[in-house]
Amino acid sequence: MEHARPLLEISGLRTSFDTYDGKVRAVDGVDLAVHAGKTLCVVGESGCGKSVTARSILRLVEDPGRIESGTIAWNGHELDGTGESFDILALDPKDKRLGRLRGGEIGMIFQEPAASLLPLRTIGAQLIETLRIHTDLSKKAARAKAIELLDSVGIPDPHRRVDAYPFQLSGGMCQRAMIAIALCANPSLLIADEPTTALDVTTQARILDLIRSLQAEHGMAVMFITHDLGVVAELADEVAVMYLGRVVERAGVEELFADPKHPYTKALLASVPVLGRDRGRDLPTIPGAVPNPLHRPTGCSFHPRCAEAIAGRCDLDDPPEVDFGGGRTAECVLYAPSEDTEGATA
Ligand code: SF4
Repeated sequence: MEHARPLLEISGLRTSFDTYDGKVRAVDGVDLAVHAGKTLCVVGESGCGKSVTARSILRLVEDPGRIESGTIAWNGHELDGTGESFDILALDPKDKRLGRLRGGEIGMIFQEPAASLLPLRTIGAQLIETLRIHTDLSKKAARAKAIELLDSVGIPDPHRRVDAYPFQLSGGMCQRAMIAIALCANPSLLIADEPTTALDVTTQARILDLIRSLQAEHGMAVMFITHDLGVVAELADEVAVMYLGRVVERAGVEELFADPKHPYTKALLASVPVLGRDRGRDLPTIPGAVPNPLHRPTGCSFHPRCAEAIAGRCDLDDPPEVDFGGGRTAECVLYAPSEDTEGATA
């Protein structure tokens, strides 16, 4: 795990949605750090708060959502010596620094490219507009750069495709165009929110290769949101496992796969098929589903599904965050000695 000052540091983030049935807290006190040039994978089932955490970073949470509290420190300027760190959440909505972050210093790729690209504007027009906002290129130079970017993300015949509308491109090509838009200002951080979920496995593998090679070329950090542990194994330097709006385990990727601490991480890993080993046997599954955040279980929110839950403790008390050193943590009573659990494995 990395110890230097992170590029992005989220502390105590709480984001909620006001609904007719009550307040839904989608993100409930998240602490995360992304280091320059590294890849942090945020993993968990649907409904764990991964995407809302990502959208909170760029303040893209829409009504009735609201960021209630926390800080998101952007240290990019301090790290490259061009300025001071600031708290993204404390910026006035009209502050120019927020505009520079969105699409400039932080690029974002969404899950559904078709829904994120504007249907009535050509790919080229969308690229050129972003380039003109974040660079001082002329219109002509921006068009040439747009063609170069489409070429660099592997879109064939970019001179022609630059004038194509999103509906004229395949899903994989739209996702590549989205990556080109996210990368056009050479961001320090790329946030990729399940960018390959809607794609077939071959296109998925190509997009992952592309992100990896572009990361090596540009030296940017990546925050990659996924529910796919195969993708985590391929891409991550560090991993944060989320459950019901909280980060329940944090570790370097090798430590996490070799020695998962939190029972939720163990259950996720156990449910991944291993070629050859799992032939002819049923894969273990995690019983039940992620609870409705409106009816959050008392104590540890994973206790109704946890194979290692301790009755009378896990269902009553909030689990402590245990620090294993080197940036590794887990929120679980099994690692916090008490009269009941003294001697439990750590
Ligand atoms: Fe399971 Fe208890 Fe740990 Fe929660 S605190 S993960 S219920 S053992």
